[in-house]
Parts: sequence; structure tokens; C-alpha cells
Amino acid sequence: MHDLSDIATWLESHPIHHESAVHDTLPDPTFITQGETVVSFSTNNYLALANHPRLVAAAKAGLDRYGVGNCESRLLGGDLEVYRTLERRLGELKHKSDAVLFVTGYMTNIGVLSSLVKAGMLARLHGYRAKTRRKYAYYSDEFNHISIREGIQMSGAERHTYRHCDMNHLEELLKAAEGTCPIIVSDGVFSMEGTIAPLPELVALAEKYGAILYIDDAHATGILGEHGGGTSEHYNCYSPCIMQMGTLSKALGAIGGFVAVEKEIADVIRLTSSAYGFTCPPPPDQAAALIAALDVLEEEPQRRQRLWDNQRYFVERMAPLGYQILSTATPIVPVLIGDAAQCQRHAQALRKEGIHVDAIQFPAAPLGQARLRFMMNAGHTREQIDHAVAVMARLAGHV
Ligand code: PMP
Repeated sequence: MHDLSDIATWLESHPIHHESAVHDTLPDPTFITQGETVVSFSTNNYLALANHPRLVAAAKAGLDRYGVGNCESRLLGGDLEVYRTLERRLGELKHKSDAVLFVTGYMTNIGVLSSLVKAGMLARLHGYRAKTRRKYAYYSDEFNHISIREGIQMSGAERHTYRHCDMNHLEELLKAAEGTCPIIVSDGVFSMEGTIAPLPELVALAEKYGAILYIDDAHATGILGEHGGGTSEHYNCYSPCIMQMGTLSKALGAIGGFVAVEKEIADVIRLTSSAYGFTCPPPPDQAAALIAALDVLEEEPQRRQRLWDNQRYFVERMAPLGYQILSTATPIVPVLIGDAAQCQRHAQALRKEGIHVDAIQFPAAPLGQARLRFMMNAGHTREQIDHAVAVMARLAGHV
């Protein structure tokens, strides 16, 4: 997509200006700021779980029982049952026998991808080939999250980037690197594009070339699939070669990250990943809230249903307005504007009407492809969606 020198060049011609509004409440998806009520189309709190009474009650009980922080790595300072239970439940959601919890999704990608090539990890993961093939190589989608790109860079292993979801390009690269231990890495749902990775094709290539497939399901966990299991459940596509990464700070409403794998692999990660062994987990009250979030995910499927109903309602109403919508596959609906300044003006116009939408521009999106990223939410009302569409119609010159 671009490298750090592109960003440096871009920064030279763009004065750095950062202004982040301070709000009085968190978006559920409506928030209050300076007495004004604003509807957010830019929160990852997709299922409006962050202030769900059951999560709040579980966190309060966790605070009373454990206090506010863990204050030590679980590896060194001792462990708590609440973390073990959360890991077991996350493993179940992802059809794996275990999961390893990290403080955030960002740290999960950094921690796992940088350490995967250590300690004969691949030999343990795959049990074959790795003994004779000592050179590891990463294959990463060009639009993967920055934490993936940084984690791969930190590993020091050979790395290749394939064009977004282009399986022919990925296979060309895999063929060219015969003799290495390949690790393919892809977002399950791409956060700026709203696209879903072609998992069955990725698995076929991983199996053909003896690769590990690492899927970042940050925007799919809790959302895709009948039970919110993510990209694998969406396609009904499971394989022992998949490592299932996810975050707990989006649909699940709290904080944390995890990678779900088989038990023996999980233990290797615990021992080799510095981001597990040399830093703290999320506070225990958050782990308690997350167990409640997994219960709600199972017991209130209507939340996921409402999210998808809202997504379809928005997409249908936007269709006649003539905008280019980059993907309609997920609750992330990016509306292409192109010019960055124009995109900012649209976002400001929406904000004046009490609607918050992020204007995504370079380096988060390719140059010249600025977009308004509408993130749909289970808590949006039809009136709120109608209002957003009416403003978009006006901006398109329809009224
Ligand atoms: N992966 C992807 C695809 C993401 O979009 C994000 C968050 N924007 C992360 C990882 C990091 O997750 P967290 O916020 O839990 O650190």
C-alpha cells in the first residue's frame, strides 16, 4: 500500500493538526457533547455492549473482588481463574482448545507475529517441514492493520505483501519462495475497506503450500456468523492451519486481544511472546465483563440481527444517491469521496447535523481515495439512519 517514506513525504506537505473532540459520554451509539446529542457512525461498539447492564454489573463485581489492576504479568506474578475462564470461552467461540489473552488487539498482533518465528514455533505448529526449512517468510495483504505490519517487521523474517485479497498474486509469491516456511496473514474484515477476506481460498493456499494462516478477526468477532464466531463461521471454513486472532474492544465492548489456537501452541506463545510474558493483561474486572459479553452474545442474538438489519437498511437507502460504496459486505460501509479536503467538508457538514462519521484519508486509505466510513450499530434507530441518508442526499445535490 505505502511505506513509511511515503508517509514522511506526505507529512512534509501537510501541516500536522490534530484535534480530537472531548465528549461527555461514550457512543452507544449516541453520545452527548457540550449539551448536544450526536449520533455516532464511527464507533466499534457495534453491538452497543460497552454499557450493557450485565457487562457493567460483572465489571463492578470484578472490581469489588480483585481491585483495579493486575499489576504483573500472568507468567511471573501468578494467574487468576477469571483470565483462564475468558481464554477457554474465547477458544470455544473460535473452535480451538485454548486462547491467549493480551492487553489489547494491537499488542496481540505485535506480540504474536514478532515471536512466531522464535523457538521452533513453526515446527510445533505444523510438526513437519519446519525442521528442514529454517527460513520463515510472511505474506501479508496490503491493507492489513498497521499492528500486523509492525509485528511482521519486528520479527525480522522475510516479508512479502500481496495485493488486496488477490489470491493469484499471493500464489505467485508463494511459488517464488519455495523452500521457506510461509505464514500468511490477513484481516478477516478489513477495517477501512469493509471487505471480507476470501478465507476458503486462503485456507486452500495455506494447505497447498504448508503455510500457517493468521486471521485478524478484530471486526468480525461477535459480528460475522450465526453465533458471532467470525470469518470462519461466516464461511463455515475451519482448518488446523488457522490461528484465530481477535480483539475484545470492538463488538465485545471492553478491552483486550487474543489469539485462539490449540492448547500446546497456546503454551508456546505464553512462553515466547514478550507481549504476554513481560507485560500485564487487561485488568481483571474487564475479563469479568468480557465473560458476561460472551454470555450476552449467546443469549441476545437479536442484537447481531439488529446490526445487520440496520446495515441493510442504510445500504438500500444510500444506493439511489449515486455514491460509490466500496463494500456492502459488513457493518463497515465506506463511501468513496476521493479528494481528502472534500471528504473532510462532508464529514463537517454531517457533524453540523448531529452525525459523527470519520473522514478516512491517507495514510489510512490510499492517496486520492478518501472516504466517509460509516460504521453501523445495533443501537441505531431507523430515524437516525434516515437522517444520515438525508444529509448525504443533500451533499450529493439531490435536494
Ligand atoms: N486489528 C484490526 C484489524 C483493527 O482494526 C484494530 C483496531 N483498530 C486492531 C487490530 C487493534 O485492536 P485494539 O484496539 O484492541 O488494540
